[in-house]
Amino acid sequence: MKLLMIHAWNGSETSYRGKFSSFLSYPSLTLAAIYPLIPKDVFEQIDVVDENSQYVNYDKVKYDIVMISFDTSSSFSAYKHAEEFKKRGAYAVGGGYHATALPDEVLQYFDTVIVGPAEISVPQFFEDYISGQPKSRYENFDVCSVCFPIPARDKITKKKKLNIPAVIANRGCGNFCKYCSMRTMWKSNPRPVENVIEEVKALKTKMLIFYDPNFFGDREYALELMAALKPLKILWASNATADFGYDHELMQIAYDSGCRGVLIGLESLNTQSLTSAAKRFHDSDKYKEIIDNLHSHKIAVNGCFVLGFDNDTEEELLALPDRVVNLGLDMCRFAVLTPYPGTKFYNEFDRDGRIISKDWSKYNQHNTIFQPKNMSPERLDQIYRQVWKDAYSWKRLWKRVWNSPWRKHYYVFILLTANIGFKFLGIDKRRKR
Ligand code: SF4
Repeated sequence: MKLLMIHAWNGSETSYRGKFSSFLSYPSLTLAAIYPLIPKDVFEQIDVVDENSQYVNYDKVKYDIVMISFDTSSSFSAYKHAEEFKKRGAYAVGGGYHATALPDEVLQYFDTVIVGPAEISVPQFFEDYISGQPKSRYENFDVCSVCFPIPARDKITKKKKLNIPAVIANRGCGNFCKYCSMRTMWKSNPRPVENVIEEVKALKTKMLIFYDPNFFGDREYALELMAALKPLKILWASNATADFGYDHELMQIAYDSGCRGVLIGLESLNTQSLTSAAKRFHDSDKYKEIIDNLHSHKIAVNGCFVLGFDNDTEEELLALPDRVVNLGLDMCRFAVLTPYPGTKFYNEFDRDGRIISKDWSKYNQHNTIFQPKNMSPERLDQIYRQVWKDAYSWKRLWKRVWNSPWRKHYYVFILLTANIGFKFLGIDKRRKR
């Protein structure tokens, strides 16, 4: 039998295919993590395609099974692939965030849908398929963190990807932000520290990214993991929430273990907007203090903002580029509020008749697909593009790099390149899709 695994991608998302793509496009772990779950002895050929940098060919090989992982914005692409391969006789299996949110829709195009994590469901599917009785739906959220397979990174392309490996230690997060699609998928526990360290050692790397959505969320676990990381002398970065910036002991231990940067979803400088998104654990009045604290421990901060909350006004959003510079952030990113299916925001907006488009290809954080409260959708689109442009003016970009705690260190070049990369990414985002 022959198997094709695809990570589908929204074809209009060309942002990451430009000159700075390799600095901005993080390595994908999706297919690498699923690959070890495949029973190798029953397949004479297993091909893996990451559509972000590779093309899907319908006719080159006659596949028996096609497995496609996709999110909301790439669902139309995944549906087309499923239909084309089914026409050619393949059995189509779909999974990922969108499949978890809308399994009935996915079953209109696929023979089987995997709802939730793959670890238990994918091996079960293959067992049933081989015995001739595959079910249309598999769903099991009881992920065993000890059984988390080491991703088969050698099976995925490194083309146009940041050449720094990524690892996941803890996929869980104790918060419930209303826009967060990650929270709809993962309910897992942290992996045993020794498993994570074994994986990290095998990478033989000097730099690492942790994909954990909230690395410091479980403080005790983070402390244990950092104590084990410290002797490896690896520089690493991760996601964090703003409260990490109050905890001086944790910040110092993080720095000593190699942490040099965190990405924080600051989301908004409007307290009411944070409250409306169930992100009350962030206080925008304290952002400057938090960023200064992190800088005092020589940890750089990439701050992400969401535009379009009900309390956002045009004036506030247009002031963001200056306010971001005044906060002292080392990098910044912006996204249009996107109520992904499965999230609380989607359910609320849909109930209130505020979803104006269910063209999933537009659910990519660059388009307004709902009716904002204080402006028109078109105006929010314009403001979004203006904010990217202004935040990445050369003047503001230099100021960010100059103020960075990395300024006197060689890795200021990483920061400078990433900032320039985001400047061009911002230009790309200003094109209407
Ligand atoms: S803190 Fe981050 S990962 Fe956790 S629910 Fe909020 S957005 Fe999601």
